[in-house]
Amino acid sequence: MVMEASTRTNLLDLDLKGMEALAVELGAKPFHGRNLLKWIHKHGVTDFEQMSDLPRSLREQLESRYEVAPPEIVFEQPAFDGTTKWVLELRDGQRIETVYIPDGDRSTICVSSQVGCALDCSFCSTAQQGFNRNLSAGEIIGQVWQATRELGRPPTNVVMMGMGEPLANYDAVVTAMDLMMEDLAYMISKTRVTLSTSGIVPALLRLREHTDVSLAVSLHAPDNALRDQLVPINRKYPLEELIPACKSYLEGEKRRKITWEYVMLDGVNDSISHAKALIRLLQGVPSKVNLIPFNPFPGTGYRSSPADRIDAFRERLMRAGIITITRKTRGEDIDAACGQLVGRVRDRSRRQLRSSDANAKV
Ligand code: SAH
Repeated sequence: MVMEASTRTNLLDLDLKGMEALAVELGAKPFHGRNLLKWIHKHGVTDFEQMSDLPRSLREQLESRYEVAPPEIVFEQPAFDGTTKWVLELRDGQRIETVYIPDGDRSTICVSSQVGCALDCSFCSTAQQGFNRNLSAGEIIGQVWQATRELGRPPTNVVMMGMGEPLANYDAVVTAMDLMMEDLAYMISKTRVTLSTSGIVPALLRLREHTDVSLAVSLHAPDNALRDQLVPINRKYPLEELIPACKSYLEGEKRRKITWEYVMLDGVNDSISHAKALIRLLQGVPSKVNLIPFNPFPGTGYRSSPADRIDAFRERLMRAGIITITRKTRGEDIDAACGQLVGRVRDRSRRQLRSSDANAKV
């Protein structure tokens, strides 16, 4: 169902500066903008009437022309391991997916940055739906807003690893990440906000000017010939540009490392000679390697490397002094694992029951 576009301005699109400026524009003080931000993000309040420390005239103006409009959760799918996939519907009826991954004291939210993706990585299911549009800052932070309401507290970690390429939607992603880290909003530390990119080099260089969130890079191959096949953006920004850009991202940050994501594809990129080439490539770059067992999806020609080959690959990197972990596959039974956010639910005609209101009629 396509909803009518709202003519109101969505306050979720504004960062702290934007909120202060709005307050001033509406005849109030910058600190009223700060309070407004706090009401919306920290307390989850969307009704301006309840924002008791805002002047009445400000509340009235907000009431008439503004709104707090997070994407709506229309589908919730819990997995056996506690991972939960939320399908969120945007104002224009498009749908995106957000995944919640609990792990002891840690709660990670995997956030989408675009509807679909234009980058066409050959092993990624999001690529199959093609690119639809960028998300607004409000639609990105709206996923964290919803997750915080669902969990009753902000997540401890956010990874920009859902659908889409975050650096292809630079401004909105940066605004949303600022809000994640903002004390008046979610207060997540910069080491716990991770942006994952396939390597859009100019945007990566620009990112460092503005923020220093943790960086994960989808490497997947140790040489250009193979990476050109797996991650086609490599043809535009090859390894000899990507690696120095990543190195420069770490400048001035003594203890930080780049996390390299490396999907393990049977017979494609998983041999010992690939491991050796990877070791050479990463020489001199503070690195952590995340080996991701390939998550198959219908229609793919790839298979995951067998466990013993993943172990051997990992051993080889560890022996060279590179911290390497094999990523646990989470939420596999609900298509919430890496690269599986394919939006299949679009075809369902009926809303599914949320587990929390299993007895309710939809
Ligand atoms: N566009 C961003 C975020 C993508 S999702 C990026 O490219 O980094 C996060 C990770 O999952 C990426 O490393 C991506 O390459 C990987 N991935 C995609 N499809 C996968 C699949 N089917 N199995 C395992 N990992 C996959």
